[in-house]
Amino acid sequence: MTRYIAAYDTEKAGDCLATCHKIRTVHEQFDFPGTFFIVGKRLEEEGAEYRAVLGDVPSFEIASHTYSHIILRDHPFCGNTPDNMTRQRELVLGKERIEQTFQRPCPGLRPGCGFANALRGDPWLVETVASAGFGYVSSLLWGPETTVPALLEKPFSYAEEGYPDLWELPGHGWHENLLKAHNLTVNVRRIVAWPSPFPEAVPLRPIHTPEEEFAVNKLFIDRAIELDLPYVSLIWHPWSLGRFDPEMRMLKLTFAYVRERGLEATTYEAEWRRMMQLQQP
Ligand SMILES: [Zn+2]
Repeated sequence: MTRYIAAYDTEKAGDCLATCHKIRTVHEQFDFPGTFFIVGKRLEEEGAEYRAVLGDVPSFEIASHTYSHIILRDHPFCGNTPDNMTRQRELVLGKERIEQTFQRPCPGLRPGCGFANALRGDPWLVETVASAGFGYVSSLLWGPETTVPALLEKPFSYAEEGYPDLWELPGHGWHENLLKAHNLTVNVRRIVAWPSPFPEAVPLRPIHTPEEEFAVNKLFIDRAIELDLPYVSLIWHPWSLGRFDPEMRMLKLTFAYVRERGLEATTYEAEWRRMMQLQQP
């Protein structure tokens, strides 16, 4: 049975923290676990506040969203790869900040922006992510040719690259900020694939209401169940959720639907541990 992961790319100063308070309340109402990928720099500025709002909920996983959101692979919309020393620093320091702030190990990484081909084709990056001590990376966040939405891909290990213990756990669907045209640097119409592999999930214009957002979420959840995916997880950003839907209606509708469909809610870390166990002979 497919499981559901609520996950948040937590990155913007101020706005993300403010929305995390609201997100926590909804999670408590529904007794839902969740994964927060947090940018390390935010913890240098707002670490005590983040610890207060997220640190004492045992079912919350705190993972890394790199140190400063520098893009780790060339990306057509998000920027170009810096030198290897900078890339390594983003990984190591990002992990350290989580571990220092929350006093717990951080096996998970979501690189800023994500990529259309995960870490494949960049052996240096695979090796450096593994040697930084990460057990999983959630970097496959785009559809073919770096389009949205990200398709419903299954997890895989980087065994072919020589790292069978490093797992890729993809994210699915829209980067919800793009669904709402919240990113002014990118014209969303230019990043929708044609012909779309999932046309029902591509509205003809940016959405205007939390109910419309839920309707798109529902398509991905239903399709993931049909495909018998181990889990489905949408790509959410607290700053964008808070701006669009200050009452968190979409979150409540989505969590209620997950319950209605009988899906277990989980975290990326729990899913990673499950994958590793399945792999054991
Ligand atoms: Zn991000």
